[in-house]
Amino acid sequence: MITKTATVDRWNPSPHLIAKAARVIQAGGLVAFPTETVYGLGADALNPEAVSKIFTAKGRPQDNPLILHVYNIAHAYQFVEFNDAAMNLAKVFWPGPLTFVLPAKDIVPSITRGGLETAAVRMPDNVTALSLIFTAGTPIAAPSANISGRPSPTDSDTVYRDMNGKIDFILDGGSVKFGIESTVIDLTDEKRPLMLRPGSMPREIIEKELGMTLEVPDSVSKKRSPGTNYRHYAPSIPVKIWRKGSKLPADCAYMGIDKPKNVDMKKAIIFDSLGNYARGLFSGFRKFESENVSCIAVQWPEYEFGIAEGLRDRISRAAGLS
Ligand code: AMP
Ligand code: MG
Repeated sequence: MITKTATVDRWNPSPHLIAKAARVIQAGGLVAFPTETVYGLGADALNPEAVSKIFTAKGRPQDNPLILHVYNIAHAYQFVEFNDAAMNLAKVFWPGPLTFVLPAKDIVPSITRGGLETAAVRMPDNVTALSLIFTAGTPIAAPSANISGRPSPTDSDTVYRDMNGKIDFILDGGSVKFGIESTVIDLTDEKRPLMLRPGSMPREIIEKELGMTLEVPDSVSKKRSPGTNYRHYAPSIPVKIWRKGSKLPADCAYMGIDKPKNVDMKKAIIFDSLGNYARGLFSGFRKFESENVSCIAVQWPEYEFGIAEGLRDRISRAAGLS
């Protein structure tokens, strides 16, 4: 298969290119596209054969369910049973990096749901993504556009490197806004909302709007989100945690927002904000991997608010700690 890439303007994507990509989706093919979190690998979520191609292209375990990307709240209504909590959060936070797990309607194929009774829905905050979903006229199932287990792609070149020859089309809409995936919450029981995966939408603002805390799933509910059980986001070289004030592990490249003593600046990325750290984490992993360093030390972001929790989750998984 030949994988073609087309560059689109992020605020005003060419209707011609969007229509071309939408036809690929409608024909059961695979299209990678930008979202505000990371690049997604999309297929028609209602077409089981198309969805199975996502699992094959990524080498993704079949029990790991996919998020249905929709173009507005009414669209989402067709695929899951909303409750008041979900409705309220959708009105406040969509489009945005917040995914809801809710009871699935029958129209959602089992393969898209990973065999579960629930489905995950999200409206991305990206013009190219929304135009593609709207034009295709179908929800788009889209995990990150990387080989399963690898760091997620935050630009189209990285998608190309992982997916060349495996997918039909890549829409290149430049680099992404957040750099880590959406926050996934389970609202199946609206009296007991669960944080299934921390991400780009900070916990505290969701909790404030909900008026409730998001519980961490126990081992039973964890089984309900199988994706969280796999090793993820990892480069092929060891990732080690560095805490501010401690000694930097010898010979490692480094990424973080503080500058450790004795750091070798030839193999270090110092970010000027937590947001830029999140945006640059995955591409930094890949950069150092290609430079054949022996390990990567990353700063543990010890902050209570914002994207820090999502960043800690990605870092601890990349380091094989959870
Ligand atoms: P990914 O698309 O790889 O970024 O991962 C999507 C995340 O959403 C994974 O952690 C999945 O386990 C989770 N997810 C998707 N659908 C469901 C569902 N129906 N129930 C629980 N978790 C889900
Ligand atoms: Mg992923």
